[in-house]
Amino acid sequence: MSQIEGKVALVTGGGRGIGRTIALAFAEAGAHVVVTGRSLPVLEETRDAITGSGGKAMALPCDIADKSAVRSAFETIRASIGPVDILVNNAGITFSKKFHETPDEVWERIMQTNVNGTFYCCKAAIPDMINNRWGRIITIASIAALSGLPFSSAYSASKHAQLGMTRSLAMEVARYNIAVNAICPGWTETDMLEDAIINIVKTTRRTPEEARADLLRLSGQTRSVKPEEVAAEALRLASLEDANITGQAIPLL
Ligand code: NDP
Repeated sequence: MSQIEGKVALVTGGGRGIGRTIALAFAEAGAHVVVTGRSLPVLEETRDAITGSGGKAMALPCDIADKSAVRSAFETIRASIGPVDILVNNAGITFSKKFHETPDEVWERIMQTNVNGTFYCCKAAIPDMINNRWGRIITIASIAALSGLPFSSAYSASKHAQLGMTRSLAMEVARYNIAVNAICPGWTETDMLEDAIINIVKTTRRTPEEARADLLRLSGQTRSVKPEEVAAEALRLASLEDANITGQAIPLL
């Protein structure tokens, strides 16, 4: 039996990309998975993929940037299947621009989603985890949480903030057997990477191949990461028997 069999796992941004892959992996390991995001059709598609292969899943629209929506999503989950045991803070957005050309509204939206949204979700999850003396929080940060990325100051600042939150919260709740960790992948094969390539092609004269090579070089990668590799690491962290690995930032390149 897997360590997460029967646990309730919430994956934010679970309808596509890395989040969807994590949701499938957790369901395969026996968790009851809740996928949230803003777009219902992709959430339903992920839910159906899980239930179609015998797993348990719920699709619940929720914009993590909206604190009352986050609060009510946690209430809905608690009332229908039980408190969240495992929280995967995966939802996130990015934007690429020179620092001084970054529009204020974009900076604010990235902070509101990546930083405040992650804060709202952790805050809603922690009281039940403390009561149950068990909890696993995994944040999909980024290699941009560990070093600077040119033309991505807002994103990088938001990912550094997620890491500060992870480390501080981990120290606060370790005594309740709650492990709080971050995975820091480099560029990973999802819409986010494809969009970044399209943006570079549009704003420079580079080909898609050159744009991809540049992105990988800037983050010190020799290849892109597969969502399945991030999901395998998330599953390992969710399956920890004790909170003996906590406050860690695990790079994945
Ligand atoms: P995608 O762009 O493919 O997916 C992003 C997900 O986040 C979608 O499911 C989206 O759903 C959801 N999301 C975005 N904003 C919100 C919001 N306000 N409320 C709820 N859900 C939201 O990205 P990836 O799968 O690539 O990225 C997932 C995470 O991994 C992000 O945090 C990203 O920063 C991080 N990461 C990605 C890397 C990469 O190269 N791909 C590398 C390192 C880290 P919807 O739009 O329906 O709301």
